[in-house]
Amino acid sequence: MGRLRTEVMELEARVEKETARQLRENRNRVFAIRLAEHAQKEVDAVVAQAGDRGVRFDCKKGCAICCRLEVQVFPQESFRIARTLRGQPGLESLVTALAEHVQRHRGITDTRQRGFCPLLVDGSCSIYEQRPLACRKMVSLDVERCKQMGESVPSDPEMAFKADAVVSGTRKAYARLKLPIENHELIASVLLALTDPTAEERWWNGEDVFKTSALPPS
Ligand code: SF4
Repeated sequence: MGRLRTEVMELEARVEKETARQLRENRNRVFAIRLAEHAQKEVDAVVAQAGDRGVRFDCKKGCAICCRLEVQVFPQESFRIARTLRGQPGLESLVTALAEHVQRHRGITDTRQRGFCPLLVDGSCSIYEQRPLACRKMVSLDVERCKQMGESVPSDPEMAFKADAVVSGTRKAYARLKLPIENHELIASVLLALTDPTAEERWWNGEDVFKTSALPPS
């Protein structure tokens, strides 16, 4: 078995085991939401290790090309982001902006027709510390190729495999606790998490609350 395959399998198993252990020992909804941070730190470590291996990324501060791509997130990530946003000023206008974004993007599949993520403020991610796994692992080898607006950014393959292992290990750990762990679109999910006070509890009770949330009625 090749080195990379072994490392990827070991990383996935370690993330699953550690995440499952923490969920088992802290059986409450707030902890399960805060634990989103664990996987996010693991992906940050994978990206940092790629830098240590000598991979040269082309991303620059202020570049937000990939913030037009559709982002899929775990439920706990949406709830964690909503908990952060709820304490910030201007919440009402943010909710309006999120709802408009969701409405405007109904049925749009072509990336080139998409607008920027409404969480992008003055060219920076307004939830940088809590940004989802999908955003954290979008680290580009070639910004010129990003500008062609495909569905993904050109990544270092080893980094991508390992980041996916973190995602997979996390998914398996939450599934072991019977928590819904399907991915859903970021903005619609955060909108629901912000506006439905029952959503967290229903998710904790096993309901995939974002499945039907996403789009407001036409
Ligand atoms: S959450 Fe932040 S990093 Fe992710 S698409 Fe939105 S603005 Fe960009």
